[in-house]
Amino acid sequence: MILGVRFVAAFAEGSAPTVEWLFLDLNSYFASVEQQERPELRGRPIGIVPLVTEHTCCIAVSYEAKAYGVKTGVSLEDAKRLCPHIQLVEARPKLYVEYHHRIVEAVNSCIPVTNVMSVDEMACRLMGRERALGNATTIRSTSNSRSAP
Ligand SMILES: [Mg+2]
Repeated sequence: MILGVRFVAAFAEGSAPTVEWLFLDLNSYFASVEQQERPELRGRPIGIVPLVTEHTCCIAVSYEAKAYGVKTGVSLEDAKRLCPHIQLVEARPKLYVEYHHRIVEAVNSCIPVTNVMSVDEMACRLMGRERALGNATTIRSTSNSRSAP
């Protein structure tokens, strides 16, 4: 799974740069979970829909679909116009919550998760030596690799 991680850095004047928080924001989360569960979907443009009907929108899209300009929230009509071969996948919310718990556990094995903001976003407050830029970068990399199923 691809885990997008954003840093928020706090720079104190006259000292080495430090990082106070590590924000983890999973990119294309629902689509990435489906690609993890179903290898045949990997590398393909997919759109996650709440129901398989013509009158809905994509609630998540894969990186491959984004490359065609398909964005989250786009109607199916527009998604198909932008990417005629997009594959639609019905959402499985329980599965996304299961993965969420696994990912929180994996990150917690590296650094305590301070806040969970949503199914695909969490934040870790860095303490002491963790705040040094080099150490924070290592924590990010370790969290990233442990979160990959
Ligand atoms: Mg996200």
